[in-house]
This record gives sequence, structure tokens and C-alpha cells, in this order.
Amino acid sequence: MLAERMKRLGTETAFEVLARAKAMEAKGREIIHLEIGEPDFDTPRNIIDAAIKALNGGYTHYVPSAGLPDVRKVFAEFITRDRGVEVKPENIVVTPGAKPILFFSILALVDEGDEVIYPNPGFPIYESVINFVGAKPVPIPLREEKAFSFDLEELRGLVNEKTKLMIINSPQNPTGGVLTAADMKGIAELADKYDAWILSDEVYSKMVYEGKHVSIYDYPEVKDRTILLEGHSKTYAMTGWRLGYGIMPVALADQIAKLQTNSNSCTASFTQMAGVEALTGPQDESRKMMAEFKARRDLIVDGLNKIDGFTCLKPKGSFYVFPNITGTGMKSKQLEEHLLEKAGVAGLSGTSFGKYGEGYLRFSYANSQENIKKALEKIKEVL
Ligand code: PLP
Repeated sequence: MLAERMKRLGTETAFEVLARAKAMEAKGREIIHLEIGEPDFDTPRNIIDAAIKALNGGYTHYVPSAGLPDVRKVFAEFITRDRGVEVKPENIVVTPGAKPILFFSILALVDEGDEVIYPNPGFPIYESVINFVGAKPVPIPLREEKAFSFDLEELRGLVNEKTKLMIINSPQNPTGGVLTAADMKGIAELADKYDAWILSDEVYSKMVYEGKHVSIYDYPEVKDRTILLEGHSKTYAMTGWRLGYGIMPVALADQIAKLQTNSNSCTASFTQMAGVEALTGPQDESRKMMAEFKARRDLIVDGLNKIDGFTCLKPKGSFYVFPNITGTGMKSKQLEEHLLEKAGVAGLSGTSFGKYGEGYLRFSYANSQENIKKALEKIKEVL
């Protein structure tokens, strides 16, 4: 018999749809993958070379749980430069991907019965882990009419003395929406008023196509109650390397490092060295990727708006579009299945990201322009 808590653990359906699409491919079907959230580009050469050099140089052993001291220093310098707020190496915990910081932060901060506010539709791991620890998930709906930011008034109605943590994510998965400076300021003020923590998931911070990234560190007065989440997966096409990091108060960093000791021990040291090269080496490849993502975004948004039953906002960030599909007369899950079976196009039902995702689909445009064009044609054909 499994432990009771396992009933409360959710998952990411993206991996299930991917498995199903792969099984169809194995049977000879041609599938266009717009379901999985990872850049289709290869990791830039200079980063791979740095990892090889590190492996040859003996970076093959256990290292401190919070990360190699020199790596924490480089990451801290990067955040200080990038966000304009002074961060020390002791504030940084390096983890295998950004995900463990989410998991560990909720484990370290949230007790059973506490309330946690999180975006819905949103990255499904938030709701999953909140439920897992026995806390009360309090979704803040992201609405299309607000360009998938949220209504600060609505948020004010949800925060109270029991709110232990507010999770925010900008640029956002799955909608591509971004928080405005006014939203961020409102969140910071509410956290202060109710003595709540903020987990600001900024893993898409470099994927902003219009305007400037608004970071929770634009409001440094809440730094002592904030975990800023960053990672290399998306910006540097390093999903499989597993490299992320959190920036947080030192006392919390020590606890998160202890959770790391109890689970992963540490992040692979050669991966950490590759991560240093990513932040300090040439940025041309990453810039090229962003320019290509922008062109693809424009292509897919224009194409979707020409399909009967679809309307699609132009998202300002990340590499997802979240078209409204209510005009097709189908439910989101039904349309996800219809498109996979009939058109060979793998996308995700908006409900994979929570109940407020009904009426939408998520497409990741981490695929070539050629394939995006082909997918658009196929979707049109089967509708
Ligand atoms: N946060 C968000 C919003 C994401 O979309 C993802 C990945 O899809 C992650 C965190 C996790 O990233 P990583 O691969 O670095 O664990």
C-alpha cells in the first residue's frame, strides 16, 4: 500500500501526451510536436565545451549541496548585475533543474493547513506539491481579458492571515502572459501586509519579446521574504542538463541545501561549470534563439487567428501560445485528442494547467517555422 500522500501528488500531462505521441510515431504516424516545453535548439557549443573541459579537469566528484562556491559566486554576480539588487553567494542554492527549488521551498515553508496562492492556469507542479504537503491550494485565475496577468483586486480577496506563500510566474507558462510593474508592486505590498513568502518563478526571464522583464527584485524591500527562481533550461536550451538555482535569504538557503543533502546530494559539478560558461560566455546563440522564437510566435499567432473557432492573443513572453478554442464547440481535452488523432498535431489541453484552462489549448512554438506552418494547415483541415 502506498502512503496516503501519494494520492495527492499530481503530474505534468505534457509528459503523458509526449509518450502517446511517441507511441503513434513508433507505429509510423507523422506527429508535429507542439506539446513539450523545451527549446528545440541544441545547447550552444561553448557551453558543451566548458562541460567537457570540466569533466577532463576532474569535476566528477560530490560537491557541496548548495553548489560549488565559485559557481554560487558567479550566479550571485549575474543576478546582482541583471536585477540590479545585491546578492551574495550565500543567497544562492544550485539544484538539478529549477524544479527542486519549487519542491524544496514548499516543503521547507508550508505546513499542513496553510494556504498557498498560485496562478491557474499555471505550471502544474505548483498545485501538485501544494496538495502533496497537505496545504490548501488557492488558485488565482489568470484571465484572457487581462492578457493573462491577473486582477489585483481578486488577489486582495484571496490573501489572508493563513496565506503562507504566494507563487507567481512571469513570463508565464502556459499563457505567455507577463506581470506588469503595477501587479508586481501590488503582490509585494500584499506579501508584506500578510507576512507571506513569495516564490517568483522567473525561469523565462530572458524570453520577453516586448518591453522589459519585471522581476520581484524590482521591489527589493520584499527580498527577505522572497525566493527568486532562475534556471538555465530555457534560456540556454539546457533542459536535459538539469541546472537551476534559487536566490533567497541565507537562513532559508541553509535549509534548502539540507533538503538537497537529503535527496540529490548536489548538482553535477561539470553541469555547474557549464552553467558558469552560459552566464559569462558569449550570448549570441541565446540571442539568436530569442529572435527565432519571436518570429515563430508571430507566425503561429497569425495562423491560429485565421482558423475558424480559434482566437489567440499575442503573448509577450515565454514560448507558448494559449489560444481560446471555445468557438470550435469542443472542450479542451476533446480538442487536444482530436488534433492528435486526426491532424497528428500534439498540443495540450488548457486544463492540463488547472481548471481555469478550460476553453484553451497550449501550443509550444519550440519547433521549426516549417513544422509550425504544417501544423497550422493540418489543424485547419481537421476542423
Ligand atoms: N517553472 C516553469 C514555469 C516551467 O515552465 C518549468 C519547465 O517547464 C520549470 C519551472 C522547470 O524547469 P527545469 O527544467 O529547470 O526544472
